[in-house]
Amino acid sequence: MFRRARWILALWYAGALAVTIVAIGAAAYLTVRKSMDDDITGSLQKSATNLVTTTDIARTGGQVPPPDGDRGSPRVLRGGDEALATALESDVFYLTTDTQGNLIANPRQVNLTGLNLAELAGEANAATHTEDVSAAGHHYRILTEPLNATIGPAYLYVGRSLDARDQQLRTLAIVLGLGGVVGVAVSGAGGWWLAGRALVPIRKSLDTQRRFISDASHELRTPIAVVKANNELLLRHPEDTIESAYDQVEAVGAEADHMAHLVDDLLTLARADEGRTTLTTSDFDLGELAQEVGRDMGALAELRGLTLDLDTSKVEVEADAPRLRQLVVILLDNALKYTPKGGRVTLRVVRSGRRAELSVRDTGPGISPDDQKRVFDRFFRIDEARARAVGGSGLGLAIGKWIAEAHEGRLTVESAPGQGATFTLRLHAKD
Ligand code: ADP
Repeated sequence: MFRRARWILALWYAGALAVTIVAIGAAAYLTVRKSMDDDITGSLQKSATNLVTTTDIARTGGQVPPPDGDRGSPRVLRGGDEALATALESDVFYLTTDTQGNLIANPRQVNLTGLNLAELAGEANAATHTEDVSAAGHHYRILTEPLNATIGPAYLYVGRSLDARDQQLRTLAIVLGLGGVVGVAVSGAGGWWLAGRALVPIRKSLDTQRRFISDASHELRTPIAVVKANNELLLRHPEDTIESAYDQVEAVGAEADHMAHLVDDLLTLARADEGRTTLTTSDFDLGELAQEVGRDMGALAELRGLTLDLDTSKVEVEADAPRLRQLVVILLDNALKYTPKGGRVTLRVVRSGRRAELSVRDTGPGISPDDQKRVFDRFFRIDEARARAVGGSGLGLAIGKWIAEAHEGRLTVESAPGQGATFTLRLHAKD
């Protein structure tokens, strides 16, 4: 699924870039070509105008003077070669023909093989006409203009080779094409890499969700199995009274409680993941809240043969009181669950600079450094059988950590195996 998504993202990326490159490349190519063409056509028009205005060509039709310099014969150009040089740009040539396309003058001796001058003359019957033509393997642009010469109607052709322009445009097309192909290939590879990176958090979050669902299902399987088994036992002896089947009835109740607790925890975490849980904060004394929870759980400590010490001072905080109470219950409940009989649990609240510190210390089995890294993970239990036996599902500390972080605080653990554990919540304290 992720492989496919990665391919699709990479292809979209490369596709989008290819369209951009093609659009930019085509625009660049067309702009350069238009500018070259405008230059060429402009030089032809300028040369034609110069020829007509500064030389005898309009009058003589470009007839070559007789070699003896007969004064009565028309001259090709007023001013001779110099006038020609000023009239024509260096790479522009000119010719003249009569109306049938028969050559009158070709002073720059252009190779006219294959060039149909009569056809060009026909096109320019009444007005100036510009056309691109090919002759003898070369490409020309020729401007044809009708002349009303003394020898009769004639045509002036002003032309320029397009070979250099064609070559430049070919080179430009190759450069743009190759650049585009390389650009698309590089962007495709970049897109593949980026898509891979972009998908990592999504993949992780999906994996976490999958693991969460499978752990939750696994966690619910045991109580459901216990309820079913006890139910079957009860159904086997319908005549029994509740009193005689008290163990089964009690087990069903206990498992139902366990499931209700688990579902509550799952919902809390699922809502937290979705970002749907909002905190309702107020100002209160964290020491007082800890005292209340400590007093409420005192009986439980006594029942388990533990000493619960409360050592709290007044520290004002701005927080969600029910959520913080939930966190203190989780920490105290764990300490009371995992500390063996005769042990001691201390709940402290102190101010440390601008922070409020709430800690729960116990004299229980402690937590190894490796396990300390994982105790806040969902469904993590050091001794699964033991934790289940005392009603633990491995979600308490995950919820506690979320509550701490939702308050921009931190929940940490310090412990050494055999020497008890201390869980500490640090929060901003009010001045
Ligand atoms: P649980 O509901 O199982 O207590 P928690 O997330 O609260 O889940 O705790 C995760 C695990 O961390 C527990 O199963 C237990 O193994 C260990 N743990 C938590 N608190 C203590 C403690 N005070 N002393 C020793 N182990 C603890």
